[in-house]
Amino acid sequence: MLTITVSSLSGGQGKTTTALFLGRLLSRQGFTTLMLDSDPQHNLTTYLGFELSANQPTLLEFLKKTVAPEDCIYPTLDNDNLFLIPADDQLDTVQDYLSNSGVGATLLKRRLEAISKIFKVCIIDAPPQRSQICLTVIGAADFLIIPAEASVKGYGSLVRTLDLLSGLRDVGATNASILGVLPFRDRWFGNTQAQESRAAVDGMRDEVGEKLVLPSIRESERYKQAINKRTTLSQLGYTDLEYPFEMIISKIRTSVGSL
Ligand code: ATP
Ligand code: MG
Repeated sequence: MLTITVSSLSGGQGKTTTALFLGRLLSRQGFTTLMLDSDPQHNLTTYLGFELSANQPTLLEFLKKTVAPEDCIYPTLDNDNLFLIPADDQLDTVQDYLSNSGVGATLLKRRLEAISKIFKVCIIDAPPQRSQICLTVIGAADFLIIPAEASVKGYGSLVRTLDLLSGLRDVGATNASILGVLPFRDRWFGNTQAQESRAAVDGMRDEVGEKLVLPSIRESERYKQAINKRTTLSQLGYTDLEYPFEMIISKIRTSVGSL
């Protein structure tokens, strides 16, 4: 199982959007895909149409190992290849458990080993804060995708995320490599890119190098439409907007040989 964490250390950077569309596309292309919602705000869980009752197992139980791992994995209505380990707001209570465990950064990686034969790909939606949960989801990753708004705020979010990654690598808490930086809400008017977007994306290129900057998610209401209708962009007729996710999948294929 290849584990890809979508992380960026600010709110509203496109983490959940990226995780959702990437997971949907991978599963529709035939890969058995596990989505993992690691944000106590649980937007990914909601977007996938889940309303859990308090006693249903989530990532909290998966991490604490209080139930069998399989019991935390739910099939989705999307398609037969897409599964979810959901979150609810109780997930915040796992922060102390992770920090007291002494192996917080590597705990999720260990837990995922138990189910690694079942899925081809695991896509993790990370929380925006630099929390224990954030450390464990980066610790579990083979690859990191860093979405960052094409703005001053987004550039800052990228820099903070890179800083955290290098700190974790330094102490051997992660082996994750960067699959790409994904500019989010890149604004274009016809063929002209907004000045702020251009400056931010140029800054991202300077930071990580041209090759690691993925094709942008453009500013568009159509992503929200697809989320609300629980469908893909291509099914709504916006195939061109799916391009960033197609590129990510092709990059995954070239990075790992085959899936
Ligand atoms: P958080 O840190 O709060 O979890 P996030 O990084 O997961 O945020 P998203 O929830 O994916 O960010 O996106 C932020 C907002 O932008 C959402 O309301 C989403 O619907 C909206 N959005 C998604 N795609 C686009 C787009 N292409 N253009 C404009 N807005 C978008
Ligand atoms: Mg989110």
